[in-house]
Amino acid sequence: MAEEFGTVVIGAGLAGGTVVESLRDAGYTAKIALVGADPAAPYYRPDLSKKVMIEGSDPADSALRGEDWYSAHDVSTYFGTSVTALDANAQKVTLDDGQELSYGQAILATGAVPRTLDVPGAQLGNIHTLRDAGDAVAIRSQFGDGKKVAIIGGGWIGLEVAAAAKSNGCDVTVILNTDAPPLSAVLGHELGEYFENLHRKNGVNFLKNANTTAFTGDSAVEAVETSAGSVPADLVVVGIGADPAIDLAASAELTTENGVVVDDQMRTSDGNVLAIGDIANAQNTLRGERLRVEHWDNSVRQAEVAASTISGGTKTYDWQPYFYTDQFDLGMEYVGRGGPEDDVIIRGDKSSGEFIVFWHRDGKVTAAMNVNVWEYGDELRALIGKEVTADRLAYEQVPVGEL
Ligand code: NAP
Repeated sequence: MAEEFGTVVIGAGLAGGTVVESLRDAGYTAKIALVGADPAAPYYRPDLSKKVMIEGSDPADSALRGEDWYSAHDVSTYFGTSVTALDANAQKVTLDDGQELSYGQAILATGAVPRTLDVPGAQLGNIHTLRDAGDAVAIRSQFGDGKKVAIIGGGWIGLEVAAAAKSNGCDVTVILNTDAPPLSAVLGHELGEYFENLHRKNGVNFLKNANTTAFTGDSAVEAVETSAGSVPADLVVVGIGADPAIDLAASAELTTENGVVVDDQMRTSDGNVLAIGDIANAQNTLRGERLRVEHWDNSVRQAEVAASTISGGTKTYDWQPYFYTDQFDLGMEYVGRGGPEDDVIIRGDKSSGEFIVFWHRDGKVTAAMNVNVWEYGDELRALIGKEVTADRLAYEQVPVGEL
């Protein structure tokens, strides 16, 4: 006999943890179940590649709520438990221990799964991806003076882990499979180069045009073999992107395309199932387009929308994407979404380490990034989509608030 819940949340990451809180904040009184494969209660995931990795902080310090919060708010938790089946017709889920939970509403918050490299030696020890607290602790525990760390991929995980490893005395090489600077797919060549130089100045090595062909070693990894040569390694972190975890959604025959397709209130093609966070390909009302965003801010805010939808509210997905990073002495925030063909306009002097960047297309601002400049967050957000000439954006005599 299935235990009955008003809402079953599938996935206990940042999105799952936030939606439970938002439901209770909205006055939702029915029983809630929160099910997640991670043994830990939901935590603030951005800390894993920053505080945990740099300072060695305990991921438990990043928990959204202590475990007693859930019982105090009548939320039944199933941490360390996977949902193995979602039956949208019967409105029930099956857990990996065979238990069944029935629901009025289900919320899919299953996140993304890191890509791995299917090459010889991939099963050797000390080769990691970074997704959960266990990964972060395992990687951090290997840092130390002179430790050889090879990082495959020059995205956000690659560069944040590179900075953390270098700051902890490791000898770090970032392996890229192209000639382009890291992050250039998101930031463009010029800003990608800026990040590459920042890392080089701090002693990080780059190996470019290097396709990983194998890992070698006895029981633990000793080297990464690439088309551009061999890189000695005591520890390997693979940061080559992530795929939305849509298996349950697909098996329940929800509409999927680049994630789970949802409307502007996070409803899937099934009236009793919502989807939020990394897996949601959602209709953004502000931008008038579909977006699937793999950043924490999106998980939190979509969770608030889903809670509103279930509670009969009217919140919609109506904001610009946002994220931040910290690497060495660089901190930045990025709002909006620029494209590879956009013009890049720099306001200020890059060499000072404090500047603002705009991405610009058809006379309008598509995205903005503030680097080590912190007072203009709201103004920059308000500029996205606005018509402003490139000259004016670059001209520092015009205050940001008057652009
Ligand atoms: P990512 O940011 O998408 O970067 C992956 C990088 O790996 C890309 O540059 C990609 O190049 C490259 N790549 C792909 N296949 C490769 C291969 N076989 N060999 C070498 N390089 C390869 O993904 P991530 O860094 O793994 O991060 C995973 C997710 O976590 C992302 O969605 C990211 O946004 C999120 N995250 C965000 C933050 C933040 O907001 N600060 C921090 C950490 C993680 P191409 O672009 O050419 O495919």
